[in-house]
Amino acid sequence: MLFMRPDTATKLIEFVESFRAAKTLSVTWYGGEPTINKAFEIVRSISDRLKRLKINFKSAALVSNGYMLTKEKAHELNYLNISNVQISIDGPRQVHDQRRMLKGGRPTFDRILANIDTLMGSSFTGECNIRVNLDRQNISSFSTIRNYLLERYSGTRVTVYAGYVDTAANHEKEGGCSVCAAEWADFSVEQFRDLNAVSKEGVYPLGGLLNICSATTSSGFVVGPQGEVYKCWEDVGRPNMVIGNVHDTPAICNDDLVAEYSIAADPFLDEHCRECSVFPICSGGCANRRLRSKFFGEPELNFCSLYKEHLEAYLLEYFKAFETRAICADVLGHGGDRWQDRGYRVVHA
Ligand code: SF4
Repeated sequence: MLFMRPDTATKLIEFVESFRAAKTLSVTWYGGEPTINKAFEIVRSISDRLKRLKINFKSAALVSNGYMLTKEKAHELNYLNISNVQISIDGPRQVHDQRRMLKGGRPTFDRILANIDTLMGSSFTGECNIRVNLDRQNISSFSTIRNYLLERYSGTRVTVYAGYVDTAANHEKEGGCSVCAAEWADFSVEQFRDLNAVSKEGVYPLGGLLNICSATTSSGFVVGPQGEVYKCWEDVGRPNMVIGNVHDTPAICNDDLVAEYSIAADPFLDEHCRECSVFPICSGGCANRRLRSKFFGEPELNFCSLYKEHLEAYLLEYFKAFETRAICADVLGHGGDRWQDRGYRVVHA
């Protein structure tokens, strides 16, 4: 396993400092696994130094499998400015343990949940989002695990959401065990209709803000363990997607690739997008997928929004919920928050 060396961490701090005009800094720690003892020491050391910089180190998030998130580490999270912990699981115990076991085959589900219990019982004041990774094999078990987790963590700052597992994220060809876009759309609408459950993207689009990420902003970067810099975390480990290295001066040297992310990935230059009816709420989809599809030899990769083919189904369910909320507010004297509507639902015959 590759860990960031101390001299690389020092160069990383200098890289951050080089953005003199930047006022705030947000960091996401992910791996590998950032809660492995040695990795967590590096998180600690870098965070300490970031906190001493002039820039306001505003917040951090931690993406973890939860297995090594001990009580001691949980108590440190506030100090490390970590306000959000994302922990992923693969379904109910028997499903998860068949897929996510230790090297010798031992299960991990119970320990991960025990660690979440510890986290929520610790001094940590942030939120914990449990992402349930879903693909074609385990999607039908989502309701079971969601209900179980919501009950177990009722009244805490734990949320549970369905995470789309995209086999293309491993830089393999589309297909494999991913759920196709149409199935995912059906699943999302059904979850919203029957359980008031929303996927992380929400049920109704927020107006094209969803694809703002490190890849599409000028001051967002992903730094790998050897100091290599990328625009997108989907690119980590792909030598042809490296835009520079914090050990070099200047750190960013692959201007062509930076330009491709900032100009070639611009959906306004794509006539399909300009003519697409969901452009205002899609804003051109994932920049990384767009580049890979159009310029890096993966033409079959889909980067279009789910709303493109399924907007009507999403809108209909959203409208029903909106109507229900309005009626609850007018007739029953409450409403306004979708979660208060449980038990009342306008049904269109
Ligand atoms: S759905 Fe596809 S074609 Fe339409 S705006 Fe989004 S990326 Fe462009």
